[in-house]
Amino acid sequence: MIKFLDLQKINLRHDDQIKNRIHQVLSRGWYLLGEENKIFEKNLSQYIGCKEVIGVANGLDALRLILKAYIELGIIQEGDEIIVPANTYIASILAITDNKLVPVLVEPEINTYNIDISKIEEAITPKTKAVLIVHLYGRVVFSNDLQKIAKKYNLKLIEDNAQAIGAKYNGTKTGNLADAAGFSFYPGKNLGALGDGGAVSTNDALLAKTIRALANYGSEEKYVNQFKGLNSRLDEIQAAVLDVKLQYLDADNDIRRQIAEKYISGIKNSKIILPENPKNEHVWHVFAVRTTEREKFQKHLSENEIQSLIHYPIPPHKQQAYKELNHLSFPITEHIHKEIISLPISPVMTEGEIDYVIKTVNEWQ
Ligand SMILES: *Cc1c(COP(=O)(O)O)cnc(C)c1O
Repeated sequence: MIKFLDLQKINLRHDDQIKNRIHQVLSRGWYLLGEENKIFEKNLSQYIGCKEVIGVANGLDALRLILKAYIELGIIQEGDEIIVPANTYIASILAITDNKLVPVLVEPEINTYNIDISKIEEAITPKTKAVLIVHLYGRVVFSNDLQKIAKKYNLKLIEDNAQAIGAKYNGTKTGNLADAAGFSFYPGKNLGALGDGGAVSTNDALLAKTIRALANYGSEEKYVNQFKGLNSRLDEIQAAVLDVKLQYLDADNDIRRQIAEKYISGIKNSKIILPENPKNEHVWHVFAVRTTEREKFQKHLSENEIQSLIHYPIPPHKQQAYKELNHLSFPITEHIHKEIISLPISPVMTEGEIDYVIKTVNEWQ
């Protein structure tokens, strides 16, 4: 059986180091907002190249907190519009509506699966305050045009970097391309914790200070509350584990790139549409292909003991949770959701497994 993602194997590579660091937390006796958070935040900010990183409880909270901080700072008001890709994981949109802001969905490009930057300007209204871009599947979405649009309309640019940690655009890492970025360390992400975790990165010191307070009940000084905040902290054990794994992130992403290259050069089946390979602008969180006969293809894979997943089966605007969006039509997004299917990709796949996946895909008729 080829697992979609073998988390046990991924984490057991660092068994000794992880156990040591967890043991340090245990014996120190300090479990929240301590040394490990400081160390991890510093190392992640150096890795990203940005001034500030704030560890938080998860990726959804990272995005919620960025928007909440802009509201506290008077930059965004309740009811304002945030542009976001129609083709994304629902958490990007939950962060917007949770803050009583209005998501304005924009179609993706069929070749990149990312938001079509050329369609952003027509979605802007006087209420638009920010664009939340999502580097979906690990592929960077960015351009000078996007920056120009944000500047022209005085919009905040926010990255949902849950899937693309380590990717670069012209040498700059994702998480350092915009005004602020949210990261997820959900176990299955390219940098995964042993549970939930997340972070915000930014070069804006005031935004960082506000988010740090908001994530801690709205308090900077114990029992003095400046804002109505949340409790959203990265615990010390997860920070310690992430700090160990951060050292191996680039090597892991390189392996993902090598697998993607093997898939792209090895898979030759006219019924399968392969993704583009934009080199450093992709960290292959997901290797998604398209086919008009997805059900049959998935059955073929599972009959041959290969796990696959669908990212994602139902677009956010068709979810029951978003009844107010159900009437909208996004044909490209809906088309992608009907045809997309993800093959196994991970830093612990063996050569034999990669070759077997290629052979099995090529044999499908
Ligand atoms: C995983 C993910 C999130 C949410 O992260 P959690 O840590 O699970 O809360 C947000 N956006 C995208 C695109 C994601 O893939």
